[in-house]
Amino acid sequence: MPSKTSSMTAKLIVVILWLAIVIPGGQELYAHRHYEEPVVLGPGVTEVKKLSDYAPSLKGAVNDCNIYVMDSGEPGGVMLLLGGTHPEEPAGVLSAVTMIENAKPTTGKLLVATRANRSASTVTRPGDAYPQYYTINTEFGSRKFRMGDRWANPLDSWPDPEVYIHYPSKQLLAYMDIRNLNRTWPGRLNGSVAEQACAAFIELIKQENVDVFIDLHEAELEYSVISTIVAHQNASEVAAMASMTLSSDFKMGMEYSPKTLHGLSHREVGDFTNAMPFEIEVPEPFLDRVRGKTDEALLLEGKDEFVMKAGEAGLLYEKIDEKGWPIDERVGRTNSTIAMILEIYNMLYPEREISMTDLPLRDDVVANGVGRYLLDPLAAPADRVATE
Ligand SMILES: [Zn+2]
Repeated sequence: MPSKTSSMTAKLIVVILWLAIVIPGGQELYAHRHYEEPVVLGPGVTEVKKLSDYAPSLKGAVNDCNIYVMDSGEPGGVMLLLGGTHPEEPAGVLSAVTMIENAKPTTGKLLVATRANRSASTVTRPGDAYPQYYTINTEFGSRKFRMGDRWANPLDSWPDPEVYIHYPSKQLLAYMDIRNLNRTWPGRLNGSVAEQACAAFIELIKQENVDVFIDLHEAELEYSVISTIVAHQNASEVAAMASMTLSSDFKMGMEYSPKTLHGLSHREVGDFTNAMPFEIEVPEPFLDRVRGKTDEALLLEGKDEFVMKAGEAGLLYEKIDEKGWPIDERVGRTNSTIAMILEIYNMLYPEREISMTDLPLRDDVVANGVGRYLLDPLAAPADRVATE
């Protein structure tokens, strides 16, 4: 029979081993959740507001993200651009950052969020071996961004309901989508973390008289809504003409927002406000279920032999070859699509023109790399750097 001392020693060893695993792991998760991601205020940024400036009940909440205001000072229309609705789709975040750090508005006003669902950027999917960060090489070194997940962090939004009943349509949706910012529009200020953010953005859209609303996304190649602009019926004329004009450079289709599918930005922003909503989807092989090693290289280079095999078997809605889908191509296409939407919009609605210069477009981003369009936070004056 083992002595009391040896059984106590065994228990202690188990506890110490357990702590040796849990503490370093926990420290990594804590550091990721609290990482202060810099955004440099480029020449066009005139003010940094908070989402709670439009909905005070959000003040201090995890989703009280920055709203970068780029006001030309010239009368015109207003655009709201959302990056980070789904923070595991880095092209949307980086496209928003390149606008903030480079663009100079010339007519009207641009409002940009890089972390629309900030809570979702504070958690990844450790069970799926997601990397915690991604790093973009630049001339001055590198810039590190938080990788995130499709859903708000359960630490902020818990527990999930058995079934998520969308407000106000009462449509039944998957339980975890109560944390998905692209299923909780138009939201409500006393609802879930994601619903509160959507309601605050709806307030912003109304208070700022937003004309053009663009939500930036990436999609898996196994999914049919890819390389496309999804548009509310109010925005379909602009989207169709933008898609046609872009097709001489690269494939960018156009789809109508389904009228009976609720909670999506391109449906509810059009139904509940006067803005014209668009969603842009570019290809991200990292999101495909058949992918191989799930690492930062796949996230940024978009090369995967298993996704290619799925393509050979005719299972994909977008092409892929050994060149993959590099982040430069994805950010470049997103930016060129934004620019084309505005160009067509300005043609049709000249009285509410929204224009800018210096947004890096697809050919330049592909030729020079997206890092060329990121500024050095250490070289910028402290009052020209914000954090997310
Ligand atoms: Zn998405």
